[in-house]
Amino acid sequence: MPTIETALGPIDAANLGATLSHEHVLVGMGEDIAHYPWRYDMTATRLQSIKELSEAKAGGIDSLIDLTTPDLGRDVEFIRDVSAASGVNVIVATGIWRDVPRSFWMRDIDEIADIFVREIEVGIGETTIKAGCIKVASDMGGVTPEAERILRGAARACRRTGCPISTHQWAPEEVGRRQVEVFLEEGAPMDRIAIGHSADSTDADYLEELLRTGAYLSMDRYPGAPGRPNWEQRNTTLKVLIDRGWAHKLMLGHDYAPAPVVRGAERPSASGPTRYLFCTTVAAPALVAQGVPQETIDLMFRDVPRHFLTGATGA
Ligand SMILES: [Zn+2]
Repeated sequence: MPTIETALGPIDAANLGATLSHEHVLVGMGEDIAHYPWRYDMTATRLQSIKELSEAKAGGIDSLIDLTTPDLGRDVEFIRDVSAASGVNVIVATGIWRDVPRSFWMRDIDEIADIFVREIEVGIGETTIKAGCIKVASDMGGVTPEAERILRGAARACRRTGCPISTHQWAPEEVGRRQVEVFLEEGAPMDRIAIGHSADSTDADYLEELLRTGAYLSMDRYPGAPGRPNWEQRNTTLKVLIDRGWAHKLMLGHDYAPAPVVRGAERPSASGPTRYLFCTTVAAPALVAQGVPQETIDLMFRDVPRHFLTGATGA
């Protein structure tokens, strides 16, 4: 079996286990944690994260793909510590999200790729923690000029390293279509790419169009949010795609994005079905009740993420 890079170093792909496709361990949008550290109780934040990840592990989640980029406050040493304490494997990301730093607006696209490749092959920051995935993002209004540079840099880094790409798209506007166009223009291997937040669309024809390019879909953001499809609607779309024969290209996740604990603020309740276990404890059993075989559920949680991360679809 090939290996997969995690925050604790490479693991045998055979040990990946049940895996969530698009999550976050800690999101500090912008650089607030770095510049205003007095706002945050990082000890409480760390304990909270260990608690939630330990609950995920106890609930059957072995691994998750963390798609937190520098502009989302990526902190791979925090991830390494809470991964070690909880036993959940965390694949960390290079790439850039929606807040493209000004330095990238003018940077040559091959130099953008160089930065991503460095984080894939050497390590992130001063650590030896290597990125196992490249994150890119395009939201409402489509692919902006600066985001397009990131997409192209990611495509070139993917071509150079084989490291997969996972996207954030605004599915209601079908922004994934333009992401795919850019990747195809760059000659990126479409079977190394997952178009994310795809369950925000209920249009199975649009999603199937993306699948026909060879891409994976991350059917995430369970259980939904106001103004977006709820979890039952997400399941309905997912089941249509499963019934059309696409389960081998579908992964599930929550895009759960815990923020650091703010000092003096009321602590948000950590209970409820909105964390790392909704997909496996609510969404998947509902699909089984509707006739989806358990093997198909296992395929989406175990085999597809492994294929996506390694590029090896034979095992
Ligand atoms: Zn996300």
